[in-house]
Amino acid sequence: MALLYDTVPTPELFRRILEQLPFPVTHCSRDLRYLWVNRAYADWLGTSPDRIMGRPIADVIGIPAMQKLLPFFQQVLDGRSVRYEEEVIFSGLGPRWINVTYDPLRNESGAVEGWVAMVNDVTKEQRDLARHRAEEERFRILADQAPVMIWMSGTDRLCTWFNKPWLDFVGRPIERELGNGWSENVHPDDAERCLDIHVSSFDARRPFEMEFRLRRHDGTYRWLLDHGIPLFGDDHTFIGYIGSCHDITDRRKAEETLREGHRRKDEFLATLAHELRNPLAPIRNAVEFLRARGPETAELAWSRDVIERQARQLGRLVDDLLNLSRISLGKIRLEMERIPVTSFVVQAIETSRPLIEEHGHTLEVEMPRDLVFVDGDLIRLSQVVTNLLNNAAKYTPRGGRIGVGVKYERGAGNVSIRVSDTGIGIPPHMLASIFDLFVQVGDPREHSAGGLGIGLTLAQKVVALHGGTIEAQSAGPGEGSSFTIRLPVVAAPVLSAKPVRTPLEAKPAARHRILIVDDNLDNADTLAVLLKLIGHEVRTAYQAEEALSRAAGFEPSVVLLDIGMPGMSGHELARRIREKPWGRTATLIALTGWGQDEDRRRSQEAGVDYHLTKPVELAEITRLLPGSVPGPAVTGA
Ligand code: ADP
Repeated sequence: MALLYDTVPTPELFRRILEQLPFPVTHCSRDLRYLWVNRAYADWLGTSPDRIMGRPIADVIGIPAMQKLLPFFQQVLDGRSVRYEEEVIFSGLGPRWINVTYDPLRNESGAVEGWVAMVNDVTKEQRDLARHRAEEERFRILADQAPVMIWMSGTDRLCTWFNKPWLDFVGRPIERELGNGWSENVHPDDAERCLDIHVSSFDARRPFEMEFRLRRHDGTYRWLLDHGIPLFGDDHTFIGYIGSCHDITDRRKAEETLREGHRRKDEFLATLAHELRNPLAPIRNAVEFLRARGPETAELAWSRDVIERQARQLGRLVDDLLNLSRISLGKIRLEMERIPVTSFVVQAIETSRPLIEEHGHTLEVEMPRDLVFVDGDLIRLSQVVTNLLNNAAKYTPRGGRIGVGVKYERGAGNVSIRVSDTGIGIPPHMLASIFDLFVQVGDPREHSAGGLGIGLTLAQKVVALHGGTIEAQSAGPGEGSSFTIRLPVVAAPVLSAKPVRTPLEAKPAARHRILIVDDNLDNADTLAVLLKLIGHEVRTAYQAEEALSRAAGFEPSVVLLDIGMPGMSGHELARRIREKPWGRTATLIALTGWGQDEDRRRSQEAGVDYHLTKPVELAEITRLLPGSVPGPAVTGA
């Protein structure tokens, strides 16, 4: 080995090297005195090397420290190298954790003359460690007391720890849960999904949330909601996951019950609306009959008008219910067209005008000069605005002012339709909730305006289906209200080649042989009376089988048939009719309470020409009869 020094290094050189060392070094003699110490050692003890060198060790470090260290001094003097880490109380310095190496120094004859010690003060590290341990301990106590189940895992996805509530839940010792042991209790149907979420979140170091069933100590499976979050060290390295689980079985049950309740309510409303519709048709038919019968006394006319008005009101309520249940069951179908906003606003005004006039209100309308278009369902949007106008009329004392303002909000790309009134107003805390189902301001029993609290809910849902919003404003009770609908504006439509619906050419009414099939006797009979009244030959049947036998000799040119009948359904009847020679050319019109797309499709498949939903106005039927004049034919008869 090449010698790097030119000359043999002097003891002085070594002394200087030791002097420069940044950690404390001492050279002590057999009689337990300091022979030499470096500056780092003296600094550490808060003094200078001069005041240490030559003095007994005990004088410098104090008796308690001496007592602690003496056994090590003895070992090094016995010729052994010694290492230890101890907490020692030094005089003037207090308790310090030191990590020391003692190496014996021998003379030429090999006898131990003293030792060299290198001291490393690790007090800070030890204190940090102790603090860390205490924190960890506190965390564990807390985690064991917490009312949640907690787990931890390392970077390899294997679980390294579970708190007491977890272990109590599964009733197994931690050893069985560690690693992947816990997954043995996951419900087999949830295991794969769980694993997928677990692995993909882990790989992405992403927080995750999952619900799964875990077997409890009593063998029952409980639903847990598990939140896992990745843990990162001070240097941002990933160190694993910590997760907490809640037993959400009861909550899920409650939610399920709630959902089931909602579903039943929706179904009940759908059935209710449907059943309420049925009696309306015969009532209306009877009214038409009374009108057609004339001449009548003033009392008769009055009572007929009462029945008609009330039946119409009932019809409106039932329509609201029906529309609501269609929306709730997701069965509403919008007939979307590109339409000018004015089209449905004007239609709504025309529909509401009688009510507004009845209440002696004045109506002020403000429309934009340019045509503004939206994509929407003309009928539904017009119903929404009608509802706002009817409300304005209902909730404004006689002689009020109702305003309709349509404005193009160019910047936002919206059109706003504002219906305002000078009526009873709405308290501020109700402004948002009046859009909720069945909500009415105040006690409806006290000042009922003849509603169910459905109209605004419907309005909001329909507007939302059009991508729009609706909001209510009012300065409070007695201050009037206004409702603003906002819809996204679209470009004007390119003129299409779509044929415009023209009224049928006027022809003299043809006389038809009509067969009415309906298990609702009143409906069948009242309709028969009306149709006879306007000159048609009419037979009735209350069942499909009966209809077939009645039709045999009669050979009707038009069959009005109910769809939902006990025994053979209207659809089946339609199919059978189409098999008869006379049936091929007959006009088949379904009159039914069910107006869903699916119902229409099935009618079409069965060979039905027209599908009308009850209650049906007589005019609607007569318009469909081959060779008829459009419009209500009853009044002229
Ligand atoms: P309904 O009118 O059938 O009760 P709506 O859903 O249309 O149901 O309205 C809900 C409630 O909101 C009404 O009962 C009424 O209390 C309040 N409301 C609606 N429009 C107005 C209005 N223009 N002025 C004051 N209150 C109104």
